Amino acid sequence: MSRLVRFAACCVGLLALGSSPALAARKHLTRASSTPASTSASLEAELARLRSDPSVAADSASIIETLTSGSMKGMTWSRLAEFTDTIGPRLCGSETLETAVDYMVKQLQADGLENVHAEQTSLPLWHRGSESVTLLEPRVANLNMLGLGGSIGTQQYGPEGLTAEVLVVASFDELKARASEAKGKIVAFNQFCDWVNKPVDCYGESVSYRYSSWQAVSAVGGLASLVRSVAAFSINSPHTGVTSQDASPSAPSIPTAALTIEDAAMLARMAARNQTIRINLKMEAKMVQTDAVGHNVVAEIKGSEKPDEVVIVSGHLDSWDVGVGAMDDGGGALISWSVLSVLRRLNLRPKRTIRLVMWSCEEMGGIGAGQYFTAHKAEVPSMSMVAESDMGVFNPYGLQFTGNAAATAIMTQIGTLLRSINGSAVVGGGDGEDIAPWMQAGVPGASLANDNQRYFWVHHSGGDRMEVLDPAEVDRCAAVWAVHAYNVANLNELLPRDK
Ligand SMILES: [Zn+2]
Repeated sequence: MSRLVRFAACCVGLLALGSSPALAARKHLTRASSTPASTSASLEAELARLRSDPSVAADSASIIETLTSGSMKGMTWSRLAEFTDTIGPRLCGSETLETAVDYMVKQLQADGLENVHAEQTSLPLWHRGSESVTLLEPRVANLNMLGLGGSIGTQQYGPEGLTAEVLVVASFDELKARASEAKGKIVAFNQFCDWVNKPVDCYGESVSYRYSSWQAVSAVGGLASLVRSVAAFSINSPHTGVTSQDASPSAPSIPTAALTIEDAAMLARMAARNQTIRINLKMEAKMVQTDAVGHNVVAEIKGSEKPDEVVIVSGHLDSWDVGVGAMDDGGGALISWSVLSVLRRLNLRPKRTIRLVMWSCEEMGGIGAGQYFTAHKAEVPSMSMVAESDMGVFNPYGLQFTGNAAATAIMTQIGTLLRSINGSAVVGGGDGEDIAPWMQAGVPGASLANDNQRYFWVHHSGGDRMEVLDPAEVDRCAAVWAVHAYNVANLNELLPRDK
């Protein structure tokens, strides 16, 4: 998989990937296919059972009641608060992420779950260090900034850092047109997207500036790249995220960092007035090692009849080093834990195994999940569905699902079991950075459909704290997640698929 495809961003699915293999695979998966006659009878039987077997409705109602008004009411949010308050942010490859792994293993064991363990991964460890952007002309001001994950620092310029004139551009095209002006300068991008009308899609439309602007700047002789934060909203808050580490002789590595929306816009106004802009950039950033020890965390409810057939529910345990990763992606990891928790409390054991995976190092490119897939790909034929929640745990309205027509019909029927909490929708676009390898291998994939219009307000920023999340909304997310996972694990057959 190319670096671009492995964009850690929450999420790869949001990117306009052009003609990438991942997109081609996903298009294939999304294409509705006719159901062969030989399987239509079993599909009808499955749908009839979901519609009329009283235990289906009763079990699902118990799951919803326990999570939203019963003994687990508020528990998912509280567990997440205790986890993030205690551990804090969990950068890929860091000792803190390992502390989080130990914490989770203990909690999952104490919760009475089965097969709780951590599977070792090899992760990159990037160090931010101290960093600053100081505007020197036309006035002196410290600008809020965050270095981008994977960037090099300014060590080569000595302790005083890099001081240079700034060229402000609005797009890659403008940089290309003004390439001769970029040599020896810091280039600042003030890329525009209509976030008000496209509060989620704008991420995919503009994240390439965060990911690869430094390569474009380096290629034309620029010394550093500063990017307007890829964010929908700002209180002068910078938003970080991974950047490409693919240097080449024609585009050697240069430092790159995010500015706030306000400061990027201000620099653009100054440039429009033909004011000379000079900036001092200091960054201690560096890649410390590429093979730090990390772990994916696993727990299961073993299937009663087909324990070797599996449904995965998941979120990622790592976060950026700012905020505490409450939304991205503590929420996704914790509602996935609650799926197993509620089934154990209700003593509901589905036919197939439901496996919780808390992935390591999504943010640097789905790294722990990629290694997990490599180690477990023999399970592709027995994997019924892979689900990852990594786009918020706000008010849920259902499931995003990617699978063939027969599988979608089953998921749509399961969705009706969630009408009592207005969570019954089943829409297309199931996706997730960490589950992408399974989906490309043909396994149906799901993500949570929720009112995440404000997701990119705090994404990858210091604002990703518990206060963004509402306990009752998180409970309903857990209920949507659990009802789907349980009923898929309890089907007569694996979810239908095309390959
Ligand atoms: Zn995420």
